[in-house]
Amino acid sequence: MDAVLRAVLFHADREQALRVRRFLFGVGAYAMNTGFVLLCRFLGYFSDDIVLHYVLMVLGINAGIFLLLRTGLNRAFRDPSLTLLQMMLGTLAGLYLMYHGGDVRGVFLLLGIAMCVFGMFRFRTADFVRVSAFMLAGYAVVIVLLRLRHPAEIDLKVDMLQWVALLVTLSQFSFLAGMIGRLREKLRQNNLTLNERNAQLEEAVQRINDMAVRDELTGVHNRRYLTERIHEEALRSLRSGSAFSICLLDIDYFKKVNDTYGHLAGDEVLRAVAGAVASSLRQTDVFGRFGGEEFLMVLNDTTANGALVTAERARERVAALRFPAIAPDFRVSISIGVAEHLRGGDTAATLQRADEALYAAKEQGRDRCELAATPAFA
Ligand code: GH3
Ligand code: MG
Ligand code: MG
Repeated sequence: MDAVLRAVLFHADREQALRVRRFLFGVGAYAMNTGFVLLCRFLGYFSDDIVLHYVLMVLGINAGIFLLLRTGLNRAFRDPSLTLLQMMLGTLAGLYLMYHGGDVRGVFLLLGIAMCVFGMFRFRTADFVRVSAFMLAGYAVVIVLLRLRHPAEIDLKVDMLQWVALLVTLSQFSFLAGMIGRLREKLRQNNLTLNERNAQLEEAVQRINDMAVRDELTGVHNRRYLTERIHEEALRSLRSGSAFSICLLDIDYFKKVNDTYGHLAGDEVLRAVAGAVASSLRQTDVFGRFGGEEFLMVLNDTTANGALVTAERARERVAALRFPAIAPDFRVSISIGVAEHLRGGDTAATLQRADEALYAAKEQGRDRCELAATPAFA
C-alpha cells in the first residue's frame, strides 16, 4: 500500500506519504457526502445547479489540497498536514448546502460533526476550538442571511435550537479533544522513555557480549572466543579446503618479571605484548589471550610458511617494546610455536602440535619461532 501510494503520488518521504494518505481519507469522506447530496437531489431537496456547484467546490478543494501536497508547498504551513485548512474549506462547502437545504438543513450538521471527530484526534484543543467557532459563526451567518433574504424558508426557532445544540456538542467535543491531546502527549513521553531504556539495554547487552568474548586485563579476545573460532575455521577448512594455521605465543621468563618488578609490572607487560602483537596482524586474523602469559593467533587462509612470517613479525614487534616505567633497559621476548591445521584433523591435535613447537622454541634458546612437524600420516 505504502509503495503504491509513493509511486502514484511521487512521495519518497514517509511523512508526506502519511499526509497524502490522510488526504485520501478526506477524499473518501467527500465521496460519501456527495453520494448523500445526490440522494437529497433524487428526493427533490436540491436543484441540479446546487448539486453541480457543490461538486465543483469539492473538486476544487481537493485539487487544491492535492497540488499543495504534491508540490510540497504544504511544508510552508504551520500544520503541514493541512487538516485545519481542509476542515475550514469542508465547512464552507457544508454551509453552502445548509443555506440551500430547506427542511433538511439540520441533517448536514450531522455530517459536520462527523468531520469534527477526525479533527479531535488530530488537533490541539486551540485549533479544535477554532474550527468549532468557525462552524458556529458560519451557521449563524446562514441563519441571518436566510432570515433576511428568504424568510419563508426558515423557522427561526428550530434553527436557533439547532445552533445551540451544535454549540453544546462542539463544547463537549473540545473537552474530549483536550483529553485525547493529553493522552497523546503522555504516549509520546512513554515512548521516549521506552526508547531511552531500549538504548541503555542495548548498551548493556553489548557490554555483556564484549565481556563474554574479551579478556579483561588485555582487552584482546579470550580463550572461549579463540576456541570457538578454531572450531569454526576447522569446519570451514573441511567444507572449502581452505588452509588455516595457529600460533601459540608464550612470554619468555615471565615469572622473573613478576618476581623482580612485581605483579603490576607483569600485568603491564601482558597488556603491552597483547597490544604489540594485535597491531602486527591483519584485520581478518584472530588473536587473544589463551591463558596466563600465553597468547594465540588464528590465521585463516594461511599455510604454515605464511604463518611463520606473521609469527616472526609479531616476535620482532614484541622485542622492540620498551618499558621506561619498569626499568630503562628492561626488554621482553616471546617464543612462538606455529602449526598448520591438517584438514579433517582434530583441533586439539593442532593445538598440541603448536604447543610442542613452542616447547622446541623454548628449548632452542627462546625469542624465536618454530614450525610444528607434520605427522607422517598426513
Ligand atoms: P618460560 O620462558 O619457560 O615461559 O618461563 P616463564 O617464567 O614465562 O614460565 P612460567 O609458565 O613458569 O611462568 C608463567 C608466569 O606467568 C607464572 C604466573 O605467575 C604468571 N602469570 C600468569 N598470569 C598472570 C597475570 O595475569 N598477571 C601476571 N602479572 N602474571 C601472570
Ligand atoms: Mg607459560
Ligand atoms: Mg613463559
